[in-house]
Amino acid sequence: MPVPAVDLFSDTKTRPTAAMRAVMAAAEVGDERAGEDPTVRALEERGAALLGKDAALYLPSGTMCNEIALAVHCRPGEAVLCEAGAHIVGFEAGGAGALAGVMLEPIAGHRGMFDAGQLGVHLRQDNLQAPLQRLVSVENTTNLGGGAVWPLQQLRAVAAAAHAAGLVTHMDGARLLNAMVAHGVSAADFAQDYDSVWIDFSKGLGAPGGALLAGTHTFIREARRWQLRIGGAMRQGGIIAAACHYALDHHMARLAEDHVRARRLAAGLAQVPGLTVDPAAVETNLVYFGITAPQWDARTLAAAALAHGVRLCPMGVRRVRAVTHLDVDDDGIAQALRVLARLLHGRP
Ligand SMILES: *Cc1c(COP(=O)(O)O)cnc(C)c1O
Repeated sequence: MPVPAVDLFSDTKTRPTAAMRAVMAAAEVGDERAGEDPTVRALEERGAALLGKDAALYLPSGTMCNEIALAVHCRPGEAVLCEAGAHIVGFEAGGAGALAGVMLEPIAGHRGMFDAGQLGVHLRQDNLQAPLQRLVSVENTTNLGGGAVWPLQQLRAVAAAAHAAGLVTHMDGARLLNAMVAHGVSAADFAQDYDSVWIDFSKGLGAPGGALLAGTHTFIREARRWQLRIGGAMRQGGIIAAACHYALDHHMARLAEDHVRARRLAAGLAQVPGLTVDPAAVETNLVYFGITAPQWDARTLAAAALAHGVRLCPMGVRRVRAVTHLDVDDDGIAQALRVLARLLHGRP
């Protein structure tokens, strides 16, 4: 497929910049599986500090961070509480069941979040007939929830309620750095009461891959066992890890630009007859909008926009997602708005 001029499908569509590729080419490397890759080791130390945890483990993907965390925290047959739209529910090919053997107990929250009261409704006394509840998992920012950032107090209250009930806590921080930049709260503060947390490098940070899972020394030691078990250990991983170092140095603060562009996109979409969006709900880089024009649905609109160089992500019959990132500039946002306004004016 040719690269669309404006690719708003996902922040995973970023390509490594020339400067990032230069750093990758020059990376010092070793056998990562044997703990001998200096670039990976340095990234793990850096990640542990950034996330405020004892230790971190560099893994190929965020999905693997989630699945390994579930497997380390839980035994088969135990239950994980999470929001109904969570990535672990709908986007990891059933890994929670297939790998960790856990039951997912979804909570119907708001914008991908829930509060301590809602969690409390789902918590139960130990009961031999029901799955033993072991873990509460949250997503910050929320993906299907529209890139919402958890208020710090709410996050802490949920963790406190979970811990009081004897459960452990996990944070899917695929876009935690977006939350950090948007709210001016450090990643470590967001993650403070969470027993494990991870960040992704392949989303807005613009690296070609990799994610860092962090927690206690004991947790990370067991996570490393799972990494070896499922073939997630690499050899000269420093080549990709170098891109992650580069991303932390150069692509973190600039996430704020993506947020500004997302808000501008939402404000523009709100002016297009036949589309609905709540610009006030756009806190980070994800923009979800609805289609009310009867002649269009998400698939036909996305196909028509693509023919004009603008790629969107259909997320439902009449729901579309547009994501801003490193490779979308101001002109790209203007082009997307122009194309959509023209399309909505006409028919498929
Ligand atoms: C993308 C994403 C993941 C998975 O990360 P990958 O690196 O793509 O495997 C998990 N959780 C959320 C919220 C995500 O957006």
